[in-house]
Amino acid sequence: MHSTQRRPAIAATGLRKAYGDHVVLDGIDLHVPAGTVFSLLGANGAGKTTTVKILSTLISPDAGDVRVAGHDLTRDPDAVRATIGVTGQFSAVDNLLTGAENLRLMADLHHLGRADRRRRVAGLLDQFDLTEAAGKPVSTYSGGMRRRLDLAMTLVGDPRVIFLDEPTTGLDPRSRHTMWQIIRDLVADGVTIFLTTQYLAEADELADRIALLDHGRVVAEGTAEDLKRRIPGGHIRLRFADQRRLDAATRVLGETPAALGQATRDHDPLALRVPSDGSLQALKTLIGRLDAQAVEVDELSVHTPDLDDVFLALTGDPTDNDKVTTR
Ligand code: ATP
Repeated sequence: MHSTQRRPAIAATGLRKAYGDHVVLDGIDLHVPAGTVFSLLGANGAGKTTTVKILSTLISPDAGDVRVAGHDLTRDPDAVRATIGVTGQFSAVDNLLTGAENLRLMADLHHLGRADRRRRVAGLLDQFDLTEAAGKPVSTYSGGMRRRLDLAMTLVGDPRVIFLDEPTTGLDPRSRHTMWQIIRDLVADGVTIFLTTQYLAEADELADRIALLDHGRVVAEGTAEDLKRRIPGGHIRLRFADQRRLDAATRVLGETPAALGQATRDHDPLALRVPSDGSLQALKTLIGRLDAQAVEVDELSVHTPDLDDVFLALTGDPTDNDKVTTR
């Protein structure tokens, strides 16, 4: 990894925010290395937007030290603002203007000269595959085109840290993959992405590190793989053609609990679940046992915990986050 990529793009310690008696952030620490994707996950009301608003200077924390791209958030908010871009729920796109006009307007806000403006707008239209639609009003754009334009507008100012709020909500799978590729390309250029999303598969796909926010605290942090390892739930599911085979399998597996873990019933009456890490070796051992006793398996599938499982296991009742907690 290039040495500059290890600089923290965001370093926050002891971040606190309360609205009256309602403690939203109860002392959270965040460290995001430059040139990486960091995803903040949490149930509705967990405080994700509040965190993004603080880190992007829109609201002040009650306590905590925050540096964004090396600038102190409280002492030098203008320097922070000059290096960040925010895109998401409140799109800056004007529907009555064309894509190119929107981008030119943004270029003017950033005081680009005429030549720079022309170059930058043409470059972004090309990069985001909007050249053909550049002269059409945004009201005629698809959801995917609109998102691309929104992100392109954020990039006019050449931000080094981008806060991406729900970048692919409502997009079809192809548009979502296009957006993911755009995000990966930005990161390859050294841009840091702070991602909030409701699609855990999106965090799994993009994020180098993930933090799980619950009741005002970071309850887990790590790579997607780290988080998945923290919870049980991996199993092999076996389905049998009839009760006789199921009973035979239960007997075989019941005799080898140490090697394979105790099989448990599934909601399907003809299926069993055997705890497993899903490795090839575990699969071979299991099939070997059943084969040795001539027990035929009708269907076999390997289940590894996904981020949804992590989310459900490590965060509390989602509605709890919206309840008032007192300090
Ligand atoms: P969502 O996924 O629903 O967007 P979130 O994790 O982004 O949720 P926040 O918007 O940060 O959550 O809100 C966290 C909590 O703070 C919520 O309970 C919300 O009601 C409360 N809150 C946010 N802004 C204010 C405010 N200006 N005044 C009072 N309470 C607020």
